[in-house]
Amino acid sequence: PVRTRFAPSPTGKLHLGSLRTALYNFLLAKSTGGEFLLRLEDTDQKRLVPGAEQNIYDSLKWCGITIDEGPGINEAKYGPYRQTDRTSIYQNHVEKLLSSGHAYRCFCSKERLDGLRDSAQKLRPPTTVSYDRHCAHATESEIQAKLKQNLPFTVRMKSPDQYPTFTDLLHGNLNMQPQVNACDRRYDDPILIKSDKLPTYHFANVVDDHSMKITHVVRGEEWLPSTPKHIALYESFGWTPPKFIHIPLLTSLQDKKLSKRKGDADVMSLKDKGILPEALVNFCVLFGWSPPREEAAKNHECFKIPDLVKLFNLNGLTKGNAKVDENKLWFFNQHYLAERLSDPQQLTQIASKLLPHIQKTTPGTNLGQLEGALVLAGKSLTTVHDIEAKFYYLLSRPRYDNNPYVRKFIEKQNLMLVRQVLEELNGRISAEVDVMHLLDKVAQGCGVRKNVVFEAARFALAGSIPGIKIPILIQFLGAQESNARISEALG
Ligand code: GLU
Repeated sequence: PVRTRFAPSPTGKLHLGSLRTALYNFLLAKSTGGEFLLRLEDTDQKRLVPGAEQNIYDSLKWCGITIDEGPGINEAKYGPYRQTDRTSIYQNHVEKLLSSGHAYRCFCSKERLDGLRDSAQKLRPPTTVSYDRHCAHATESEIQAKLKQNLPFTVRMKSPDQYPTFTDLLHGNLNMQPQVNACDRRYDDPILIKSDKLPTYHFANVVDDHSMKITHVVRGEEWLPSTPKHIALYESFGWTPPKFIHIPLLTSLQDKKLSKRKGDADVMSLKDKGILPEALVNFCVLFGWSPPREEAAKNHECFKIPDLVKLFNLNGLTKGNAKVDENKLWFFNQHYLAERLSDPQQLTQIASKLLPHIQKTTPGTNLGQLEGALVLAGKSLTTVHDIEAKFYYLLSRPRYDNNPYVRKFIEKQNLMLVRQVLEELNGRISAEVDVMHLLDKVAQGCGVRKNVVFEAARFALAGSIPGIKIPILIQFLGAQESNARISEALG
């Protein structure tokens, strides 16, 4: 079966770019009846951030991305799934490379390595590949003597003269060689085991993908330069590498890479802003993947996880950098919120969650009123919080002062006329009366066009905020409240 993995390092909150990586891996597995696992890459102890691990689990769960194997989940299969719990596995594997000559111990001091790095920077052209392979030439007795002295060491891979070419399912055949300065004898020789005995990303990643039977690796393009090293490691073990798919970077509208440091792009903070998980998943999946054209047209690009599981296919992936257009997120949220509100059970759920919050600003509100307001505002809500920002007048008296809509209204209108209309209307709304007919009569009585009556009524009933049709608004507020608002507006 297809087996994919999401391999986050718990170095920060889960952001959009990583969510997309997780999603593509999940969908690739699920669309083919395969398995999706989570492996925690926590060997860089200096970069660990408390709470980040939990944030990753919470975010994935909230989005509906389920994990078949991972820390605490089916560990018996190919676990443990946390890299710091796998140190003996890496140790065993590095021994194999040491004895086959694919790796060697490096006892060079920090000072020596710093010096090499500095001198590599001064080369023309400068290079970040700086090691001179000094320790690769040590004799067995020299090595044993240093081990006896308990000198700290790293283990380096003896990199091949030429890294193997490899195939990426999205980018095709690639031949990527590091910028080695051959005349000056500098070698890539990446570190596999650090002096703290923990593996580096490269080594742990390869050992784990192999031993966890991963068949496809979907990851960000930023890992492309690491892939030749990984392939070389697979070859030195005599293993078949998985298939690689490097997906383009996410760029925001300003073309900046969306990073973990940009707080607004993390999943849980979007949740707090009122974004729904199905909207976020839909938004995210389209950065670098598109469904078959006829499917996209049929659904206005609205797809939930079960649809995506049916439709996902590597052929839909695109190579170019994916631009993030936030408007699309609001569009999807509006769509899915309206969908949820049209289901009575979900409506009650949403309203119950929101009610305590609303009661802080509008103490009298009850559940029924809030549900009614949500239904009425329905398709115009971008998030549930809009009910307060844009539809507050459904739950409390409008504010006539310091309200931009009212200010605009007053600039435009002849206030004497508005007064006249409202006086004519005052006290005449009742359950029995036909509102459209009443408004007609008021227009005639005042000798004004009907839209003046509508605008005056909107001023009194909604503080001039546009959105809901006057007869519907009156029906929602009830005759008593409508009349009360009209007389309050008259002052
Ligand atoms: N731990 C790496 C990360 O944080 C995983 C990269 C990979 O998928 O190989 O993104």
